[in-house]
Amino acid sequence: MTSDLHDLVEDRLREADQRYTTGRRAIIGMLADAGHPVSIGDIAVLLPDLPRSSAYRHLTDLEAAGIVRRVPASDEFTRFELAEDLTEHHHHLVCVNCGKVIDVTLPAGFERDATATISQLAAAEGFQPHSHRLDVLGLCSNCQ
Ligand SMILES: [Zn+2]
Ligand SMILES: [Zn+2]
Repeated sequence: MTSDLHDLVEDRLREADQRYTTGRRAIIGMLADAGHPVSIGDIAVLLPDLPRSSAYRHLTDLEAAGIVRRVPASDEFTRFELAEDLTEHHHHLVCVNCGKVIDVTLPAGFERDATATISQLAAAEGFQPHSHRLDVLGLCSNCQ
């Protein structure tokens, strides 16, 4: 799966006239392994040899190429994850105290109902929906 992912990322970077460098490859591997959105601070721990400034630059370039997306959290630290079309559609549990973000996949029935309802609401506004986001705010098990 990971080699497929690296192939996909390499193709997408090539389309954006960007090279899949060692640093970018390390970040993509780390995001895939982490299984949850990570902050720059997390990346410094997981990839200690990669300078923070390089990590941030790589993430910005990967975001511009549609490979990585930012996840808003409730603390001051932006988190990053692989774009949904490289992983799967999911939602987030966001801790309003420590900023921890947990990925959750909702039941297919919920997603079907949500998509149908959103389509109706959007059609009434002449709006064409592409996707949706739903982040649940609360307290993680450590912060309760
Ligand atoms: Zn917490
Ligand atoms: Zn959904």
